[in-house]
Amino acid sequence: SPLFPALTEASADPDGPGAHRPALRFGNRSLTYGELAGVAAPLAERLAGAGRIAVWATPTLETAVAVVAALLAGVPAVPLNPKSGESELGHIVSDSAPTLVLAGSGDQLPSALGGLGRVDVDVRATRTPRVPEDPSPETPALIVYTSGTTGPPKGAVIPRRAIAATLDALADAWQWTGDDILVHGLPLFHVHGLILGILGPLRRGGSVRHLGRFETAGVARELSEGATMLFGVPTMYHRIAQALPDEPALAKSLGKARLLVSGSAALPVHDHERIAAATGRRVIERYGMTETLMNTSVRADGEPRAGTVGVPLPGVELRLTEEDGVTAVEAYDGETVGEIQVRGPNLFTEYLNRPDATAAAFTEDGWFRTGDMAVREPDGYVRIVGRKATDLIKSGGYKIGAGEIENALLEYPGVREAAVTGEPDADLGERIVAWIVPDTETGSAQSPPSADELADHVARRLAPHKRPRVVRYLDALPRNDMGKIMKRALPHD
Ligand code: ATP
Ligand code: MG
Repeated sequence: SPLFPALTEASADPDGPGAHRPALRFGNRSLTYGELAGVAAPLAERLAGAGRIAVWATPTLETAVAVVAALLAGVPAVPLNPKSGESELGHIVSDSAPTLVLAGSGDQLPSALGGLGRVDVDVRATRTPRVPEDPSPETPALIVYTSGTTGPPKGAVIPRRAIAATLDALADAWQWTGDDILVHGLPLFHVHGLILGILGPLRRGGSVRHLGRFETAGVARELSEGATMLFGVPTMYHRIAQALPDEPALAKSLGKARLLVSGSAALPVHDHERIAAATGRRVIERYGMTETLMNTSVRADGEPRAGTVGVPLPGVELRLTEEDGVTAVEAYDGETVGEIQVRGPNLFTEYLNRPDATAAAFTEDGWFRTGDMAVREPDGYVRIVGRKATDLIKSGGYKIGAGEIENALLEYPGVREAAVTGEPDADLGERIVAWIVPDTETGSAQSPPSADELADHVARRLAPHKRPRVVRYLDALPRNDMGKIMKRALPHD
């Protein structure tokens, strides 16, 4: 069955009502389903048999068309982050070995892409040929590089089957239909922005309005003009939470939205609560990764709970395991920590050119080791504690998750950003270090909160053994383009 039924239908009946429905809008440029078929199908014909192709993934209509065309052609596409440095691009290009790069006609491509043939994407509809037949479900559809938060990015080979499975599971959980209009402000070279944000609406036969760049005013405008859902990363919801007191139109528009969804990193509890208080709406979290697409979320008619990512999506099996990675954590006590492992049709096939890493990532019986640590609440909600590699601190015989300390720090007045890490300590094994970005705007008259104040607050709020031993102040935390905190890039860490 086709990956985009509405597109196939529009190409079969170019004068039918379905062909006139809006599909994609970026700024003042847009395409209906009929027009999208008219530009993507000829490009797909041109790409047939091209081997792998790279897509210069700017946040534009051209990128969306390029990826749809590659999917129609059954040619694996490798989205490239236009903000990557030459060395990262060089790594991705030599690792994935594309034959061509698809770009907008005005794009300047860096020299790392100099050896590739170039095809400019034309988004003016010419004719409406039939959308090609759908390739098989196991055909590699996309090769998406992981965010590189814990090490060099790895290319995850994502088959069509996983894309269809994850989008249909989200549709089921979120009651996502062709009537939904998505507001989108994310980049298009990761799972969140590309698969959920572009391919999701197209699979449903709905539409997407991309802001080009995220701004709260654009969100307010689109939601007040009929958009029904917003997908964002926590840094966007943080900006929304900050802007709400001064922008009544924003609060009103968010109150109208059917769904506010956050993912890619943990949404701080403080921001979740501030948005709920000002708009009456609770943000739904979803948890996923490049390798597994989406694992958990909250149903549209369920109850979002701050600090949790909900329950496994339909078709996804999830278990927590002890340190040996084999013994299941049976407890639903909100306390016993285990590594999340998942299994299901949403999983990738392999890391490109990395049989060693692929083998290490799976258990013998096919569970994928996410590297994320979590607990389960009594009703099954999953609460992520943090990543095994960077967020689990072993101090004084305790295993302490960085996330809850970060949440506690963020609610303290005068703290704008917070990250918590462990550092070797002769007595404790590891000591807790808090990295703080003070809030210069609200705190300009006062001095930033002192190390003692912050440590006392955490000890009182959580437990004495969770008290940070060291507090360091920074002007900004190192973050990647999705707003994820890059803990390995913290100074002296
Ligand atoms: P790399 O694998 O290269 O180190 P990465 O893991 O950041 O980078 P992604 O696949 O983009 O690359 O991110 C997936 C990770 O993001 C998950 O494993 C998890 O740690 C984190 N994550 C995603 N959604 C959430 C969420 N809702 N809450 C907490 N963490 C999340
Ligand atoms: Mg990862």
